[in-house]
Amino acid sequence: MGSGPRVVIVGGSLGGLMAAQALRSAGCDVVVLERNAAPLQGRGAGISLRPVMIDLLQRQGEISLDDFCTRTARSRYFGRDGQVSGEAQHAALFTSWDTLHQRLLAEIPVQAYRLGAEVAGVETGPDQARVRLADGSAMDGDLAVFADGTFSSGRRLLSPGDEPVYAGYVCWRGLVPEAVMDAALRAQLDDATNIALLEPGYFGAYPIPGPDGSVAPGERLFNWVWYRNVAEGAALTDLMTDTSGRYRFSSVPPGKVRTEFIAELRKAAEALPPALRALVRATERPFIQTICDVEVPRMAFGRACLIGDAAFGGRPHLGAGTAKAAQDAFTLADALDAEAGDVTKALAAWEPTRLEVGRAFVADNRRLGEQFQFSEGAPPLISLRPGWAGRP
Ligand SMILES: Cc1cc2nc3c(=O)[nH]c(=O)nc-3n(C[C@H](O)[C@H](O)[C@H](O)COP(=O)(O)OP(=O)(O)OC[C@H]3O[C@@H](n4cnc5c(N)ncnc54)[C@H](O)[C@@H]3O)c2cc1C
Repeated sequence: MGSGPRVVIVGGSLGGLMAAQALRSAGCDVVVLERNAAPLQGRGAGISLRPVMIDLLQRQGEISLDDFCTRTARSRYFGRDGQVSGEAQHAALFTSWDTLHQRLLAEIPVQAYRLGAEVAGVETGPDQARVRLADGSAMDGDLAVFADGTFSSGRRLLSPGDEPVYAGYVCWRGLVPEAVMDAALRAQLDDATNIALLEPGYFGAYPIPGPDGSVAPGERLFNWVWYRNVAEGAALTDLMTDTSGRYRFSSVPPGKVRTEFIAELRKAAEALPPALRALVRATERPFIQTICDVEVPRMAFGRACLIGDAAFGGRPHLGAGTAKAAQDAFTLADALDAEAGDVTKALAAWEPTRLEVGRAFVADNRRLGEQFQFSEGAPPLISLRPGWAGRP
């Protein structure tokens, strides 16, 4: 247990666990509350690993990236005729949501991570924050950190009215085990972030660790994303209504997408370059995430704050949402360290830069998304660029 401030973190996904790691390394005593009762797994698929995340992981000691990351040496672009139209020497590192989550979870004591703990309220006073759980219990801390995602209850409570805004398109995603891909297909896609610029939207595919975390060629998964415009209203509601008739605004998970939409996806895939079409055809359980913009005018509220997607996020075109969440987390830990654990002073020092970074992050992602999905003419070649080094 640390001797610094006690911090209640709401949300046990990547943002929450990175906050736990960063704050523990700054001497805080943390507890993470996750509303799901079952251990989280199989979410979100591929994650690009940025330098800032490597820094954060290394705070607990040296790590070997080749234990849990896949590497691609280049971005490969497919033209409309299905042929490779160009390559750029963009090296990239990828991991998977599961692999990263397991690594981060292993770093915190079992008793510091509580499943089935849904937060329903927060009160923040001069000396402490009180988090109220849906079961009627409460938990006090010197600080409450909400890392509870795009549909954050913390944001709803602390910054009412700042709701996610649907961007006009969704992301279809899929995972294909390399083991079911024939050698020719693997050779065509291997060693690259494969991108087809479409009109509208784009398709991307790259290798990530396998279900058991293996990064050995042949045991990995090919992760793909395909951004497709869907008008808000009846069309979106229908698509996001799952096999059991339940409407889901944020995502329809693997196995829950209705068969007629999977059939439509496969038909639409006929227009993709053959190698990418083959990936879609080989995907047993594609899934869907709605793409939104999320912005807040403030991140700090007394002794509570918002980080990660709960504060700024939504569109994933920079492939850096996790990196931004990592930065939110460790800059907060550094501010607490610099202010000798004084939460109020630390939040005041931390917030202005994070607001600036968050606004720029949303604006950059929005600009790219609008160009890809709704502009006439050649889309930008940003792809999953290694760039977002991240403003500090
Ligand atoms: C299509 C798509 C592709 C992406 N690709 C990438 C990529 O390649 N690279 C990258 O870096 N990022 C990517 N991202 C973004 C990335 O997933 C997130 O930005 C990042 O993981 C930070 O998420 P988070 O932890 O803030 O929120 P989330 O992952 O949404 O986690 C929020 C957690 O809070 C819990 N929760 C919610 N409400 C409550 C409550 N009331 N009480 C308790 N718990 C609660 C939820 O159950 C959940 O576990 C992508 C996102 C999308 C949609």
